Amino acid sequence: MTVAEVVRRFDLYGSTAPFGRCLECNGVLEDVAKAEVEGRLPPRTRQDFEEFRRCPGCGRVYWKGSHYDRLRDLVEEVLSERPPS
Ligand SMILES: [Zn+2]
Repeated sequence: MTVAEVVRRFDLYGSTAPFGRCLECNGVLEDVAKAEVEGRLPPRTRQDFEEFRRCPGCGRVYWKGSHYDRLRDLVEEVLSERPPS
């Protein structure tokens, strides 16, 4: 089973946080210029992403890759809960 199939089967798209709320404190994320957050980004992220959002509550910065990682973690969790066949 591929990750895409797992995501579809368990409807994980609907259960991941949308790109709108902070995962830490549930603050409403705001668009932020890349220049403002650049210094806090891992090098790969700085290179690969152009759109960022920031939580006004805790200051955490989000980009699409961080949600992809979360989705992947969720999929791994689901897979690890499957009983051995
Ligand atoms: Zn926050």
